[in-house]
Amino acid sequence: MKPNVRGELIEGAPLGAQSWFRCGGSADLLFKPADIDDLSEFLKQWPVKKPLTILGGLANTIIRDGGIRGACVQLGKAFADVQVLDEHYIQAGCGALNGNVAASAVKAGIGGLEFLSGIPGSLGGALRMNAGAYGSEMKDVLIGVNGINRSGMPIRIVPEDLKMSYRHTELPEELIFVSAILKGVAEDYDTVKARITEIKKQRNDTQPIKESTGGSTFANPNAKDLKRAGLPEDLRAWQVVEKVGGRGLTIGGAQMSEKHCNFMINTGEATASDLENLGNEIANRAKHEFGLDLHWEIKRIGDDIS
Ligand SMILES: Cc1cc2nc3c(=O)[nH]c(=O)nc-3n(C[C@H](O)[C@H](O)[C@H](O)COP(=O)(O)OP(=O)(O)OC[C@H]3O[C@@H](n4cnc5c(N)ncnc54)[C@H](O)[C@@H]3O)c2cc1C
Repeated sequence: MKPNVRGELIEGAPLGAQSWFRCGGSADLLFKPADIDDLSEFLKQWPVKKPLTILGGLANTIIRDGGIRGACVQLGKAFADVQVLDEHYIQAGCGALNGNVAASAVKAGIGGLEFLSGIPGSLGGALRMNAGAYGSEMKDVLIGVNGINRSGMPIRIVPEDLKMSYRHTELPEELIFVSAILKGVAEDYDTVKARITEIKKQRNDTQPIKESTGGSTFANPNAKDLKRAGLPEDLRAWQVVEKVGGRGLTIGGAQMSEKHCNFMINTGEATASDLENLGNEIANRAKHEFGLDLHWEIKRIGDDIS
């Protein structure tokens, strides 16, 4: 049964091609709601027993080659509004690109949100991942979120509900973030603009941003795990990848970048399974050589080809 909704319903949507890795399978059904009422209606009609996956801009996700069963929901342009409320506050739809949120903030002379300028993907994904860079993360700027639960009921979420920690939030996977209010500080336009320019330059110098990639493959290990493994407590994930011979390591069309070895890239012909096998190989080496568990930061969703 196809839900009766106003938004876009696409069967066999080629999601892999849309992901930042540019590979992987299709979604059985992709729904892009027309507005929040439409989203609520879809959730009410979609059977609870059928799988439901929430997608953002797919900048942090590998779609496995066999694709995704059930329905996927992706907030598009209808949820991409960014409004400056005053000299401190911004309200944005969770389909808005992080770069657009940062650009609106800088234009309004609001500082503190410029870290978002270099984080690809949508505000919804940034909230779910507690995305961060250069010493700031979503947790530092979040005031509140409007969401919608699996039953289609709108809910208000305060930051404490999300229990945000390093690249992690703690609400059910099927909860959809719809819009959020963020707080910055009133600052001079030129100062904020200069910081954005610096962030862009640093990324360009140190990350393979022109490649098909998904950002950091592994989260930085915590100090306790590193200590247990007999490694320096401030070691970063990229340094672990380096130590296990990961820089430039290739499986099929997947490679750990030479430029930033915690970034995995699709060199052209990678399958999602090449990417996942490469990540697993690195994690196995870290476990074998140091007894250290490296945890994937990149989400892997969908089915393998059987
Ligand atoms: C070149 C590059 C550089 C990067 N640098 C950084 C960085 O510096 N810091 C950093 O933190 N990340 C970085 N990333 C990773 C990525 O940009 C972030 O994780 C981003 O927040 C992902 O957003 P997305 O919309 O693409 O999410 P997706 O990859 O689509 O999804 C990620 C998660 O968010 C959930 N989600 C998405 N939208 C919603 C919603 N509306 N409601 C509820 N859940 C939702 C999904 O279910 C999934 O669990 C980088 C990626 C790339 C490609």
